[in-house]
Parts: sequence; structure tokens; C-alpha cells
Amino acid sequence: MLKKDKAVCLRTTDYSETSQVVTLFASHSGKISAIAKGSKRPKSAFDGPIEVLSFGDIIYSAPRSAKLATLTEFNQKPAFLQLRKNLAALNCSFFAAELLDAFTQDFDPHTALFDAFLQFLTDISLVQDNRNALGFLILFQLTLLAEVGTKPVLTECVNCNASFTDKWREVHFSSLANGLICPDCDQAFVDKIRLTKNAADCLADLKLISKANEKTLNEIEKALIYHFTELMHRPPKMAKSFLK
Ligand SMILES: [Zn+2]
Repeated sequence: MLKKDKAVCLRTTDYSETSQVVTLFASHSGKISAIAKGSKRPKSAFDGPIEVLSFGDIIYSAPRSAKLATLTEFNQKPAFLQLRKNLAALNCSFFAAELLDAFTQDFDPHTALFDAFLQFLTDISLVQDNRNALGFLILFQLTLLAEVGTKPVLTECVNCNASFTDKWREVHFSSLANGLICPDCDQAFVDKIRLTKNAADCLADLKLISKANEKTLNEIEKALIYHFTELMHRPPKMAKSFLK
């Protein structure tokens, strides 16, 4: 049976001279791995080769037993074109797409996460500088973790529940414990990284991210990359663009 949805492409692989296997993130269906037969031909039902971050209306048939769905149409909309002109924003978007692929399962619907991803792509296509791009990436990464059910605890010590305050001598974040660790508890945690007060303030109150300086945002992004690396058991591919 053919199904219609709206989707963004997260990943593409060449399947043959003329076809691609694509990973799409769709509004109602969740993630879909599909073969797009003939997508690389000049004239096809896919508006040309499908690229990462291609967005539009899709028609596909869900697999019965085979692993791959079959994509029959992709009406690509000229969205997020500005992204191609800003390397920082483009790298942030590729990173978000990689993480979405890593943290979602095929045909597990995440409509709120799909909407958040579209909003992120819309917002980041309009930014002019690294700092704002990084701010949007951090907020999206935290939304992703919350939507897939692993929201980190960032307003209190994950061990003793003491509320985070500026009076903490030191603040640590532990990936294994999935949250902040207060100075009274940090001896018990081997797996942890230290955060500056500025970074911890931003994580405890996300409204501060839009006003934070680039140095603080870089620190937060490094902490998130440490966390994603632990969760994925390998560094994300796009991490190297952010670890300078
Ligand atoms: Zn504690």
C-alpha cells in the first residue's frame, strides 16, 4: 500500500549507477530506509538526485518482509537553500541529521521531533555567524535527547537531587549518570567531565544559550560530543568539525 508523508533526507548511499538508498525522517512515519530506483537519472519522480537535507512530500510503499521501503515519489521543496551558503550552519545541520539517524528507529514515529528538526533547519538557515549556529545546534541536540527518552538532568545533582546553584565549588557532567554531579557526590563518579560555571548556568537555564558567548557554547558542544560518543560507543562522524 502506498503512503504519503512529508520528510527530510538524513543520509544517502549510491545503490547503482542510477539508484540510491536513502534514509528519510518523516513526519508521521518516523525514520524510513528506502530504495529510490532511478533517482540519479536526469528525469525521475524524485526531482533529481536526493541529497542530505532534501525536504518535501514523499510517496512510498512500506516493506512487507524486506528491510527497505520503496520510494516512488519525492517532490522536493526548495527549502533551506541558504544553508548551502554558510558552512558553519551546514555542518551543524549535517551533525543534527547524523544524530537523528543514530537515535531513532525505523517506523517509530516522532512527530514532535520532526517538527523540532524542521524548525531547527529553518532557524539555522537564517543565521550569519558561528555563535548563533552553535546555539541552535545545542538546543536541538538537547531536544533530541529529550524526545528519544534520555533527557539529561541539568538542574540538579543527578545523584543526590541537590538543586544546582552558583555556590557549587565545581560542576561535573557524567554521561553514564546522565546529568550534573554536585561537589559532594563527584568523588563517586569516575566517568565525568568538568564544566565551567558559565556552561553549567546555560545548561540549567536554556534561555541563557542565546546570549552566551562562543567560548561557552564551544565548551557545551564539547560536553555534548563527549555524551553522544558515550551513548553511541563511538564518536559521531561530524564531531571532528567541532573539536578544534
Ligand atoms: Zn550530589
